[in-house]
Amino acid sequence: MPAHVLLLGGTTEARRLAADLAARPGIRVTTSLAGRVARPGAVAGELRTGGFGGADGLADWLRAHRVTALVDATHPFAESITANAARAAAVTGVPLVVLRRPGWRPDPGDRWYCVPSVRAAAGTLPRLGRRVFLSTGRLGLAAFAHLTDLHFVVRSVDPPGPPLPPQTELVLARGPFTVAGETELLRTHRIEVLVTKDSGGEATAAKLTAARELALPVVVVRRPALPRGVTAVPDEAGVLERLGLSPL
Ligand code: NAP
Repeated sequence: MPAHVLLLGGTTEARRLAADLAARPGIRVTTSLAGRVARPGAVAGELRTGGFGGADGLADWLRAHRVTALVDATHPFAESITANAARAAAVTGVPLVVLRRPGWRPDPGDRWYCVPSVRAAAGTLPRLGRRVFLSTGRLGLAAFAHLTDLHFVVRSVDPPGPPLPPQTELVLARGPFTVAGETELLRTHRIEVLVTKDSGGEATAAKLTAARELALPVVVVRRPALPRGVTAVPDEAGVLERLGLSPL
């Protein structure tokens, strides 16, 4: 019976881990995606898509598919699935490894305003600037919809649904992004303030460098806490080590 790893994905790290695990004899890897993105990139190994039906549904899936290790490599802001993974692992006894890439850190001189939620980010905006680059993803934009006097440039992979702020320009794009490209975008749209989640990682960090070079204020939404008792590893090497695997 091969080991079966269920990899909760939706991130670059999850895709890289799937490729690593799928290349190892004796390991079966299934990546699980929520199904939010219309055309997700290809993943190595097996793929399943859609919610499990809460922690109980995930626990049932782990049992039914004889999963021997659960890896939560979801986005740092995917709070519900991380909570469900912790509960499902606890009730089934399947070992859980959580991968959380480190958060971003400001450089000296950066003008960061760290806030606890997207709603709080909206509250800071009117005093920081009127032309806003919003890169918090397409969900949660309703928190900004009442800001009718501000002009928003919203970037997301797929088009967002309503409600949106009335003055919204859409930029549909998928990372990774470059500093030159981000600087150009901020300049072209005459952006005065940037709003981002503290997603961490390289793929979307260029906007912070661009904002730094243009001396723009940045509103940073802090990450939700991990479930009680759960600790995370910061990278793929940490996951492999917890799974008892050597680097390929
Ligand atoms: P969430 O709020 O934590 O999850 C909401 C529900 O979606 C979960 O309860 C679960 O449904 C389902 N779900 C989430 N991730 C899943 C997965 N990998 N496989 C199967 N079902 C999943 O998550 P979210 O913030 O909407 O993010 C959804 C996905 O997008 C995640 O996989 C995440 O890695 C990725 N992503 C999120 C962000 C972000 O900013 N939040 C950014 C980039 C990528 P059930 O309860 O029915 O199982």
